Amino acid sequence: MAESISFYSTNYRAPKTDFFTAVLTGQAPDRGLYMPERIPLIDKADFQKFAGAPYFETARFVLRLFLNGISDAELLAKCKKAYSFVPRLEKASGKKHLLWLDTGPTASFKDFAAQMMSPLMGHKLTPDEKLFILTATSGDTGSAIANAFHNIPNIEIIILFPVNEVTPNQRKQMTTLGGNVKTIAVNGKFDHCQAMVKEAFSDERLGNMRLSSANSINIARLIPQSVYFIWAYAQLAKSMDEEVIFSIPSGNFGDMMGAILAWKMGLPIKKLIVATNANDEFPAFMKTGKYGKIEPSRMCISNAMNVGHPSNLTRLIDVFGGRMDETGNLLKTPDMEKMRGLIHAVSVSDENTRKCIADTYKKESIVLEPHGAVAWYALEEFLKEHKEENETLCISLETANPAKFPEEINKILGISPEVPESLSKLDKLKEDYVKMEAHYGDFYKYLTQR
Ligand SMILES: *Cc1c(COP(=O)(O)O)cnc(C)c1O
Repeated sequence: MAESISFYSTNYRAPKTDFFTAVLTGQAPDRGLYMPERIPLIDKADFQKFAGAPYFETARFVLRLFLNGISDAELLAKCKKAYSFVPRLEKASGKKHLLWLDTGPTASFKDFAAQMMSPLMGHKLTPDEKLFILTATSGDTGSAIANAFHNIPNIEIIILFPVNEVTPNQRKQMTTLGGNVKTIAVNGKFDHCQAMVKEAFSDERLGNMRLSSANSINIARLIPQSVYFIWAYAQLAKSMDEEVIFSIPSGNFGDMMGAILAWKMGLPIKKLIVATNANDEFPAFMKTGKYGKIEPSRMCISNAMNVGHPSNLTRLIDVFGGRMDETGNLLKTPDMEKMRGLIHAVSVSDENTRKCIADTYKKESIVLEPHGAVAWYALEEFLKEHKEENETLCISLETANPAKFPEEINKILGISPEVPESLSKLDKLKEDYVKMEAHYGDFYKYLTQR
């Protein structure tokens, strides 16, 4: 087994720790985010082996680099069980491809992290420990987490979602499970939900409750999200020297950080297109070097990306030698030139998102949904501006199934997207959730009554 890797906090005040402690803690005690102290390089020969290998094998290989405290056989069994579904690659015109990550049980890319995270979290829990997982969701995290942890003993899941910003389907995917899955509809925005969760983590009065997070601030979500970049590249690249452009629809930047980890592991990423909706705090930062959160966040049709301050930005800044605290204060500017060399950040309006859905259907006979369309639009614009890149392998991520957004798709294309089974059964199930104002005091009371 490889030499063990410790995890440090991006605020640099909490002690370094091992993977499983970092996973069960979620956010570091100094409110920073955990990062691996060292990111191992993968040999070209190993990348080559992933071509044609089952997805779970690639996952095992990548996770093995970062984890210790679990045997090879156990890790392989967990990967195999988690990934009974695999991503789907679809070729479009030119050298453009789509990486569909909607094949899991809740039809969003978040299944790829959540299904792997739940067995990892359960791994070190003793039978007499009770763990509460608090999660704020802008749409898809909640259902992916709820599904992954449903009926896992000793774990209770508490999910906060903004009452008016999730679609009925997204809501039903969380509120119909019952059992150890509790849901709270917050009269506010995603950022309020996230702030309430963060406050609970730093509330000393809750010291006797074992709390953890399943948001993309948890390192156990991040590492599995590096796997599909590596896997997709290995399937499509002609040789392991070929460079690749990825385009990623981004909100809280967990997906994008998965790509950054893959890049650090040696994946030859030529350009990473970070595509946001109208919440353009990051593209603005890349242009000006000045960072300002967007409060409140802007409502867009790609609702899982309505984030006015991405939690994982702290990690990106850290990778490029800067420092950002948990409130979004930039304490040290990262190497902007190096960052701009790798990352092309762009904001896409709802109008262009809709236009892209319509055009792509016409030109490519592909039905995109609003999140994937943000990335696809950004990629196409990038290729128009950089004609020399039209010969480069391009992979754009589709992060949800179009059937999760039937109203929007129907308005734009006049058709109803095909509904996968995971969604079609929802209407028959009973919903159960609590309503709450966006006040931490109310949430505190709720928690202490558990
Ligand atoms: C969560 C989500 C995103 C954004 O991913 P981040 O990791 O938060 O940047 C994009 N698309 C869909 C469908 C999502 O659910």
